[in-house]
Amino acid sequence: MLCEMCGKDVERTSRTRIEGSVLLLCSNCSRFGVVLDPPPAAVVAAGGRLRRPPASPGPQRGASRRSEERDVFSDMGELELAPDWGRRIRSARESRRWTPDDLAKRLNEKRSLVLKLESGNFHPTDALVRKLEHHLGVRLRANPETSP
Ligand SMILES: [Zn+2]
Repeated sequence: MLCEMCGKDVERTSRTRIEGSVLLLCSNCSRFGVVLDPPPAAVVAAGGRLRRPPASPGPQRGASRRSEERDVFSDMGELELAPDWGRRIRSARESRRWTPDDLAKRLNEKRSLVLKLESGNFHPTDALVRKLEHHLGVRLRANPETSP
């Protein structure tokens, strides 16, 4: 929020009456007037409850670029995979107490492929995504069965 007096970007502003007009001011500037209503914590909490995508594995290069990164993935297959597909595979496998070998056998794939999937280094084909979802009982797609 921008303070209407000094223009500083602050976490919260207060409605402050100064010389007959009411301004939204930072805590520093509001000292020069009469604070009418410090915003209750509930309002701040509600404003912060924006929908955010789950954190993706691997190095984060700034949250603001997340949509660009997702576009890269969607170009590689028909299905739009969730950005954290590797983490979903691993947690589903671990919750079943399967080793990477166990999962590889069920998928009829190599153990090295399972490890690459879980680290996010290998983008599964659509067929493999369906197999993984079937055997692990998880959804790996960002937008399951939605039509535009
Ligand atoms: Zn200010």
